[in-house]
Amino acid sequence: MISKAGIMVIDAHAHYFTANTMKNWLTRGRTVKSFTSRTASRTDMTSIELPDENWDTAQKWVDELDRYGIETMGVMVGVEAYDEFLETMKRFPGRFIGYANINPAQPDAADKVKQAAKDGFKGIKLYPSSWKGLKVYDEPCYPVYDACLANDMLVFLHFGITIGGQADLRNGNPIDIQVPSRDYPDLNFIIAHFGAGWFREVLMMQYQTDNVYGDSSGSNSWMKYLPYDIDLKQIFRKMITTGGSHKVLFGTDSTFFPRGWRINILEAQVQACNELKADGVINDEDIYKIFYGNIKEMAHL
Ligand SMILES: [Zn+2]
Repeated sequence: MISKAGIMVIDAHAHYFTANTMKNWLTRGRTVKSFTSRTASRTDMTSIELPDENWDTAQKWVDELDRYGIETMGVMVGVEAYDEFLETMKRFPGRFIGYANINPAQPDAADKVKQAAKDGFKGIKLYPSSWKGLKVYDEPCYPVYDACLANDMLVFLHFGITIGGQADLRNGNPIDIQVPSRDYPDLNFIIAHFGAGWFREVLMMQYQTDNVYGDSSGSNSWMKYLPYDIDLKQIFRKMITTGGSHKVLFGTDSTFFPRGWRINILEAQVQACNELKADGVINDEDIYKIFYGNIKEMAHL
C-alpha cells in the first residue's frame, strides 16, 4: 500500500479512543470543559467529537487509513478499550498494532503484559508522569520489563510535556529509562515524541545505549517551549546522526475525530526527510526505515 505521500507508511504511535475511554475519563474527574480548553490552547484541534454508544472506533480509523493509504496504525489501548480492541484486531487483521497501557504499580501488571502478548498485542505503553511517585527504574517496574522481554513486547514511554493537566513532570525525564535500558539490553524502549521537550536526553542516550528509540509522533509542538529555535528537519537530523535512521519511528499521535488521521503530520515529516535527503544526510533506505521498516521489523509484522 502506498500512502498519499508517495511512500509506504505504518503509523507507529496513535491512540484507540472509544466511548468507554470517554466514560472512564469522566469518572476519573476530568471534565470535558477543562480538556477542551487545554486542547484549544495547546493543539491544532478546534473541536472534538465525543464518542457515544453508536461510535464504531475501528471502522472510523480503517476508513481514515484507507483514505490516506496507510497500511497499519499502532495504537495505545487503555483497559477500558481493551476488549473492544480485541474484536477490532479480529475484524481488521493487519491494520492495527496494539500496545497495552500498563501501570506497574498494580500488583498484576506483569500478568497483564503476559495476557496482552497472548492476545496479540505487540507492546506496552508506560506513562510515568501519570504515576504517583513510582519511577520507571523502581523495583516494581522490573517484573513488567521481565514479562516484556519474555514475550517480545516493545516498551513505549511517554515522557516530557503532556496534554494531561494532572501530570507530575518530575517523572517526565527520559533519562530515567537509561538504567532499565542498561539492565535489559534486549528490550526495545521507544520514547514518544522524541522526549517531548527532553530532546537532549534522548540524544544523550543514543551515545549511552543501543536500545532507546525515538518516535516522531504528533506535532512536536514541544519545540516551541525550548529556549532556542529548532525545527523538524533539525530534530530528524540530530536523531539520525546520533542514533541512526533505525532509531526513528514515524508516528502521528492521531486520537480524536473530526481531526482523524493526521495527514499533515506525515506530509511535514516526509518533507523534512526529503530535505535531509537533498542535503545528503539520508537516503531512500533511511526514509523507508523511518516511515515503515523499523516498526514493521520491531513489532514482527
Ligand atoms: Zn500519544
